[in-house]
Amino acid sequence: MGEFDLITRYFTRPAKRAVLGVGDDCALWQIQPGMQLAVSSDMLVEGRHFLSTVPPKRLGHKALAVNLSDLAASGAKPVAFTLALAMPRIDESWLQGFSAGLLALADLHQCELVGGDTTQGPLTICITVMGEVPPGDALLRQSAQVGDDIYISGSVGDARLALEVMRGQLSLSASDFESCRQRMEQPEPRVALGLALRGVANACIDVSDGLAGDLGHVLKASQVGAVLTTDWVQDSAAISAAMQSLPFARRLDMALAGGDDYELLFTAAPEQSDAVQHAANEANVSVTCIGRITTGSGLQVLDLQGVPMSRRFASYDHFAN
Ligand code: ADP
Ligand code: MG
Repeated sequence: MGEFDLITRYFTRPAKRAVLGVGDDCALWQIQPGMQLAVSSDMLVEGRHFLSTVPPKRLGHKALAVNLSDLAASGAKPVAFTLALAMPRIDESWLQGFSAGLLALADLHQCELVGGDTTQGPLTICITVMGEVPPGDALLRQSAQVGDDIYISGSVGDARLALEVMRGQLSLSASDFESCRQRMEQPEPRVALGLALRGVANACIDVSDGLAGDLGHVLKASQVGAVLTTDWVQDSAAISAAMQSLPFARRLDMALAGGDDYELLFTAAPEQSDAVQHAANEANVSVTCIGRITTGSGLQVLDLQGVPMSRRFASYDHFAN
């Protein structure tokens, strides 16, 4: 099998909304009149973003999921994506699984694969997603307001727990490990929540490198500070049963600096709290209030007694680790 047969077999399907899909020099897409295009790329490199042991179907899912998560954070509706793929050799059973996982998630979000590039090299997956959003409706990092409540969707820490177990640094019950592994290998992008938060949230970001670090990007962009509480780490919808099995201090690390969560972290004015809950219900995901935006700069984390903690929660930096 050669490059073109591979593209035809695993990555070419009849165009749906695309004017022209895979097969020509460019794909063609008719943008809806009056809409803005939201564009984002994310790259996954073997050994850095995923382990060689991950089942290909889950990897296909995750490669698109992390990109859809960026659209979700912007409040954009997914429309199409391209796939640039480098792999050491043609492995049909790998390609079969990878494309099945990828295209199943694409179908779920009606996000069409319209083109890409395929080459030989170390296993690397780069996806560019495109979404649409009405002008002025995109959720941005720079719009947090002093007095806003800070929320996190779903739950945090589980993906990092799975990684720690795989590294042999932690042990969990078989069922807790399985649910954490699922969170790590097949994150669910919060697309419906991002759409429901248009006009409700002020600022939004998706949590990929760790909650504290990603919140830091919002604070910097918005030129504000924040206070985070920690009682929610004790007990809330944001903390899974697997997380509950850890001592509190360890749980705090995983929740605030774990990474790979792909949840939405957003801020909203206190008077929007009913609207926030309504958006969460509509999107069928929990949201938990974890703190408040303040004047000044930087992040202060309060312990269970409400006393500021001196320790820092570092987020993941590819060039520092
Ligand atoms: P070109 O040489 O003009 O860049 P290619 O030979 O790289 O074109 O690709 C042929 C067609 O297949 C193009 O339409 C391209 O978008 C598409 N394509 C290549 N690789 C992929 C892939 N991994 N997934 C989807 N489409 C792909
Ligand atoms: Mg090409």
